[in-house]
Amino acid sequence: MIIDVVYVQDSQIQLPRSCAGRQSDAERGANSSAEPVPDVPEEANVSSFHVLIAGGGIGGLCLAQGLRKAGVSCTVYESAPGVVLTGYRLHMNGAGGRALQQCLPEHLFELYMQTSRTTPRREVMVILDHQARELGSRPHIGPPNDPDRPHTAVNRRTLRQIMNVGLEDVVQFGRAVRAYETDTDGVRVLLDDGTTAVGDVLVGADGINSVVRKQLLPDVSIVETETRALYSIAPLTAELAAGLPEALFDGFACASGPNGALFAYGAYQPRRPIAEAVAELAPAASIDPVDPYLMVNLGLPPATAPNWGDVPDLWRSSAQTLHSVMRTAVEGWHPALVGLVEHVDPTTIFPVAIRHLQPADPWPAGRVTLIGDAVHAMPPSFGSGANTALRDAAALSRVLAQAARGDRPVVEAVAQYESEMRAEVFPILRASADPRALDPNFLPDDVLAANR
Ligand SMILES: Cc1cc2nc3c(=O)[nH]c(=O)nc-3n(C[C@H](O)[C@H](O)[C@H](O)COP(=O)(O)OP(=O)(O)OC[C@H]3O[C@@H](n4cnc5c(N)ncnc54)[C@H](O)[C@@H]3O)c2cc1C
Repeated sequence: MIIDVVYVQDSQIQLPRSCAGRQSDAERGANSSAEPVPDVPEEANVSSFHVLIAGGGIGGLCLAQGLRKAGVSCTVYESAPGVVLTGYRLHMNGAGGRALQQCLPEHLFELYMQTSRTTPRREVMVILDHQARELGSRPHIGPPNDPDRPHTAVNRRTLRQIMNVGLEDVVQFGRAVRAYETDTDGVRVLLDDGTTAVGDVLVGADGINSVVRKQLLPDVSIVETETRALYSIAPLTAELAAGLPEALFDGFACASGPNGALFAYGAYQPRRPIAEAVAELAPAASIDPVDPYLMVNLGLPPATAPNWGDVPDLWRSSAQTLHSVMRTAVEGWHPALVGLVEHVDPTTIFPVAIRHLQPADPWPAGRVTLIGDAVHAMPPSFGSGANTALRDAAALSRVLAQAARGDRPVVEAVAQYESEMRAEVFPILRASADPRALDPNFLPDDVLAANR
């Protein structure tokens, strides 16, 4: 069983001979709001095998759903106090859809589908110039589009709220993982409140600044691209939509201007009003309504770029100042694109520093592994970070279920997951970080080959 103990700094904690354990009753009840999981796992809980997950973001929640569906016990430790707002629209491809279909109970997958955007006219990223003239387009990567798992888009917080349904007894908010220790039988995580928990496997799903990765793969560095971005949304009224170029409603659209600014646009128009879909499919779930919007992102070149005037410190600027940066960037562009920036809600603008990881050289597998941004954070050029985090979650839950059933040794299962992840996802990380990533003709063969 899981033992919570006071963590004494600098002490070397001896792991019990077997760390394999399940949550104690006290822990299991800690965060429960007692919504029953309607889709009871087909397989009964397979053993006392227990998975510890650091991070309850896109990847961590999907992994917990996948493990739960396979009857494997897990606990998610999430540092944030709840499913907080961390962004707007996420492009979803067939790989993400496939992973969600595997991991979620049927009614939640259906809720994901119904709250995803209406399938766009063209499943491509369209590249425009600053006068809204089309320069080219690029197909999205990932498995072929199909009606069950279309290329689409979701509202990030809605997806996380959907993935949180039924995990009230599994996700522990406000509990950050600080470090871990392993032995041949298990792994112990140290939490920032001074307690510890033990399990058979620890999965770092704790994002680009992952503490788990820093301990497991200390040589992996974070690359600061020096490109900054401003993310925002404009409420999507029929009147606004009518005046915009049609290409802005395709899969995704980018427009660049002579000043080096790059705008990216993505519509979020759910297939069905969120409240209506929730009322039918998960009436007890706490999922907020979201009105249709157009995400408007401004990518700013590095501060040293020529042709670019002074940009204030984006992290210390008011909403109005950030809005004026967007207005300046779009000066002289097509009137519809200028008008769109005017419609941006200034209170929604936030800055992002574009960073990514260097793909790590292969490492020996063990009881600690990584998924999503913790191991392959990538620039958003191919809209793939969340999709690959979901892909990892599905792949890892499959092999961990085999280990939990005793069908194979746990380290062998982790090794298979890691080697497939490196083969399938690292090419996307490399391509996303490539300076040619926004060239419509840039689609490396290894990305295509690994993602059918
Ligand atoms: C602006 C922007 C736009 C993007 N657009 C797209 C897109 O359209 N499509 C797409 O596929 N991807 C997109 N991405 C990438 C995508 O957001 C990430 O790849 C995805 O969120 C990764 O999921 P994750 O679960 O690995 O990490 P995260 O979503 O970052 O989740 C990590 C979680 O771990 C928690 N955490 C951190 N440290 C600890 C700790 N020590 N202990 C416990 N918990 C911890 C965090 O609070 C967080 O909840 C975009 C990224 C950005 C920045």
